[in-house]
Amino acid sequence: MSSENRIHLDQHAASSIDAYFEYRNIVGDDDNGTLFTPEEYEAYKKKVIPQRMQNRLYVSWTNSEGMDCKLIGPETPCFCKHRYKQHKTDFELPVSSASSLKCKVAGCLCSGYNYIPKNGSQALKCHCKHSALEHSAVSPNACHSRKCSCNGFQTSYRCGCGDLAAAHKLLVETRQQRLERGHPVAKFEPPYAAMGGLTGLSSLIDGYMRLDESGVGCPTKEFLESASTSQNERQMSVSTSYQSRSKQAITKKLSKTKQMQ
Ligand SMILES: [Zn+2]
Ligand SMILES: [Zn+2]
Ligand SMILES: [Zn+2]
Ligand SMILES: [Zn+2]
Ligand SMILES: [Zn+2]
Repeated sequence: MSSENRIHLDQHAASSIDAYFEYRNIVGDDDNGTLFTPEEYEAYKKKVIPQRMQNRLYVSWTNSEGMDCKLIGPETPCFCKHRYKQHKTDFELPVSSASSLKCKVAGCLCSGYNYIPKNGSQALKCHCKHSALEHSAVSPNACHSRKCSCNGFQTSYRCGCGDLAAAHKLLVETRQQRLERGHPVAKFEPPYAAMGGLTGLSSLIDGYMRLDESGVGCPTKEFLESASTSQNERQMSVSTSYQSRSKQAITKKLSKTKQMQ
C-alpha cells in the first residue's frame, strides 16, 4: 500500500518537473522572474506559439562558402556577454538582420545579437591585446581598457573551417530561406523560445565536424539550378506533414497541461 503511494507521488513529481521544464522552454525569461498564473500562461501560449511556429528564425555563423560553422542555440553567448535566449527572438513578422535581435537585459547596450567565437574556453584577444570581454557591446565594439585607443574589436582567430573569424557573417534566416540555401531545418518547428539554428543534437558541434547537411557549405550548382524546385517542394511537403503532426502533438500536450492545473 505504502509503496503504491510512493509510486504515485514519484509520478506526480516527475510530471510536475516535466511541466516546469515545458513552461521554462516556452516562456524563457518573458515572465521576468515571476511565474505566470495559469490564465496568463494560457494567454501567453495562445499568442506566442503560433507566431513562433510560423516565424522561427534560424541563426547561424557562416563562412565565406556558406558553411554553418556555428548554429546559434539558446545558450550561445553574445558579444554583450548575455545569451541568445536573453535577446528578442519572437517577432510578428520575420526579420532578417541580427541588429533586430536586441538584448532584453535591462541596461545592456548590445546593438543586436553578435556571435564571437571562443578559443576553447578563452575569450578571444583583440589586436589591441585586450580580451573581447573588455570591449563595448555597442557596435563597432571599442575597447574599454584605460588608455587604449582601439575603436573596434578585431581578431586574427582562424575558425576550424580554415577561414578567419572576420570572414564569417551572422545569418538570420526564415525556414524558407534556409531551405532555399539547401541547409537543414527542424523536422517540425518546436513551440520553444530562442531555438536559433538548432535542428538536433549534432547542431551544437562545430560546422566542419557536424555530420548533417548544415556543414556542407554552398549548395551545388545542380541543386540551385535544375531540380531545386522539386527538391524544395519535396522537402516542404515532408515538413508540412511533420508540422501538422507536431501541431496535433502540441495541442494534446497543451490540453494535458490544462488538466493538470
Ligand atoms: Zn547581445
Ligand atoms: Zn546583453
Ligand atoms: Zn581592441
Ligand atoms: Zn584595447
Ligand atoms: Zn568557419
